[in-house]
Amino acid sequence: MTDLKNDQERGRQLKVAVIGGGPGGLAGAIELAKLPFVDWKLYEKKAEISETGGGLTIQPQTWKLLERNGAAEHILESDFYRSSDGLIEQRCNGRTGQLLLQKPCPKDTPYHRQSGRCARSKLQTALLRQVDRRYICVGKKLVGLEQLPDSRVRLVFADGDEDEVDLVVAADGIRSVVRKFCFPNHSLTYNGQSVYRAIISKAKAAAIPGIPWAATFWKHISGLYVYTCPLGDDDFEVTMRIRRPHQPGQPEPVSWGHPFDLHTLLDEYRDFCPPVRQILELAAKEGNTQEYAMFSGTRLESAISSGNIAFVGDAAHALLGNFGSGAGFALEDVYALGRALEWAWNRRPSKDQEETPLAQALDLFDSIRSPHYQRLYKILDNFKAIKVNLHAEHRPVDEEIAERVKRISDASEEWMYDYDIVQAVDDTLALLGSGSEVGECVEVYPNSCYYFRFVRKFWVYLVLSLTRILGRSKKT
Ligand SMILES: Cc1cc2nc3c(=O)[nH]c(=O)nc-3n(C[C@H](O)[C@H](O)[C@H](O)COP(=O)(O)OP(=O)(O)OC[C@H]3O[C@@H](n4cnc5c(N)ncnc54)[C@H](O)[C@@H]3O)c2cc1C
Repeated sequence: MTDLKNDQERGRQLKVAVIGGGPGGLAGAIELAKLPFVDWKLYEKKAEISETGGGLTIQPQTWKLLERNGAAEHILESDFYRSSDGLIEQRCNGRTGQLLLQKPCPKDTPYHRQSGRCARSKLQTALLRQVDRRYICVGKKLVGLEQLPDSRVRLVFADGDEDEVDLVVAADGIRSVVRKFCFPNHSLTYNGQSVYRAIISKAKAAAIPGIPWAATFWKHISGLYVYTCPLGDDDFEVTMRIRRPHQPGQPEPVSWGHPFDLHTLLDEYRDFCPPVRQILELAAKEGNTQEYAMFSGTRLESAISSGNIAFVGDAAHALLGNFGSGAGFALEDVYALGRALEWAWNRRPSKDQEETPLAQALDLFDSIRSPHYQRLYKILDNFKAIKVNLHAEHRPVDEEIAERVKRISDASEEWMYDYDIVQAVDDTLALLGSGSEVGECVEVYPNSCYYFRFVRKFWVYLVLSLTRILGRSKKT
């Protein structure tokens, strides 16, 4: 189906298909290319690797990984906006414009790793430049997946092509087709909110009095907000979120990134302060708004399936853009996966080793990433409870806005922005007695989160022991 060399020619033992060419898939390809025993291909349904519309924050932990995988050098200073005060974002009352909160980068973050906001395509292009394009297959929409008796997986594409691989890296986003095959009961539903994103001219945005030169959330109640932020070049981002519940009898929204006439929504924002209303009018006039219906799904308990499928990025979790770090989480996933594969392949097989290296690698990957996502979900659950309780207090609108910002801020945690996946993997490998830095057990979680380290250690032991026991009992 492609003119790639076959496995034997490339001398590689593990055939891997990466499904999806978003940040997770591209960064996954970069990690896999480092492993001499891996023969990989990336399949993307679109006709080219592309990303349109909207901005994306590159957080401190994401910069670290982009420096490591080489993509950072393709992102120029002019490609993104970075606050000169070391701010991640600020929150204002959308009605009055009153500044309620400023959120700084974690303390001691070096300037070159402080949050930066760019058009999504900048990150995509930078990652793509680090990937060997000969192994990218575009126009390949995965439509079928079958587990074969020899533990391989058969992939079927919409154009009729097929491939058989040892490992599938599911990087196919929030509406993951791979996830649907692995977990048929997993449901994904419209959560009643839609996001509208537009990029307008920086010069025109600057001409509106009262628009701050900072990543700014203009908050209202019930999840209604506007977000404004300068990006790189002459770009300025305007994003809006609004509750648009699904009406009975109407088909569920399915649109994602489709053109939208923002004029039809302006009336919903009449309560916002003049600078916000003006910038929305400008965005509507420039006419490049895209609509994103927000979908949420049940949370996966594990990021692996069937011993030969690993979920990374949005396919692995239901975080819905929370923490403004989804691309970073995807990069952490694939880094952990690459290291886990390397560890399993480089290990000397012991006599009692019942599992295949692939199964061991996936268990290790899962033991590092699943608790991470569980920990993030816990924060979201807490936020949800705060919002429900506050709403029930029936305060005046401006008071509710201010109180919501305060309570969410008080309940917020920062560790995810300087989380160090490299140390997390080193730490886990050291724990297993075969890390590259055995014995050097470093603090992975800032703020001395010993409890979580203990839980993760316990989890690693439990997963590895259970899979060994299950492997033995299958044989007997
Ligand atoms: C409103 C909002 C704001 C956000 N803000 C930020 C932010 O500021 N910073 C940040 O880091 N993250 C942010 N995120 C999250 C971020 O966009 C995602 O986490 C990130 O894009 C995930 O990358 P991914 O590669 O896992 O998935 P995606 O980017 O969704 O890529 C999936 C790829 O798979 C392809 N694909 C899908 N199905 C198939 C198939 N069947 N066959 C082949 N290919 C397929 C798609 O075409 C796509 O190219 C935000 C998200 C939302 C919704």
